[in-house]
Amino acid sequence: TKNLIINSEKLTIAGQLAAGIAHEVRNPLTAIKGFFQMMENDLKENKMYFDVISSEINRIETILNELLVLARPQEVKFEKKNIEVIINHVITLLKTQSNLNSIEIIMSIEPNLPLINCNENQLKQVFINFLKNAIEAMTQGGSIMIDIRKQYADRLVIRIIDQGSGIPIHLLNKIGEPFFTTKEQGTGLGIMICKNIIDEHQGEINIDSSSNGTKVEICLPFS
Ligand code: ADP
Ligand code: MG
Repeated sequence: TKNLIINSEKLTIAGQLAAGIAHEVRNPLTAIKGFFQMMENDLKENKMYFDVISSEINRIETILNELLVLARPQEVKFEKKNIEVIINHVITLLKTQSNLNSIEIIMSIEPNLPLINCNENQLKQVFINFLKNAIEAMTQGGSIMIDIRKQYADRLVIRIIDQGSGIPIHLLNKIGEPFFTTKEQGTGLGIMICKNIIDEHQGEINIDSSSNGTKVEICLPFS
């Protein structure tokens, strides 16, 4: 087991640049996609080419959509929110995906937690990304534990513990680098985006992994 503190000032800059590019590329891509779909009927003989182009367009779109999370307005609204409500909403969103993979999500939440000053949508994005990673790592099913409690006098810690394949030690320091992925359909952007968002919340992410699974710890300050 090795502990990782993602250090990503460089990644943040790379992320902002990527987000700007994503913005510029998206409009022409949308046009290409639209006209391409209109051509579908004439392409019957070349169905195979059509399918390849179509799936590649979708892949570009997925990458751009993930990057665009970084391209948000400079002034993001922060509000005091209940973290339990946020997590429960995210779990509802992922219910189908976890059920399909025979994964149960077990919650353990300390009562009467203080509210967190946060941007709700961004935090949701963070929990979605980490939970998706956990689900994707648990190809045999099992349980994901979400544990939320106070730590020290001034912060909450949210732990997402899975029973998945784990991250090999030699890859641990690559996690969070833009485009680093071990998945065929992955973008390698999820953790970079999480890191970026948690930085903006003055929080911290630690990732701990072994062949028994992965533990992601997200610390968020409250005041
Ligand atoms: P993506 O999910 O698109 O690959 P991420 O940035 O979310 O991109 O994750 C990067 C890589 O980190 C993944 O491809 C995977 O190899 C590894 N990883 C992340 N979370 C986990 C986890 N819970 N269990 C095992 N490996 C993980
Ligand atoms: Mg991911």
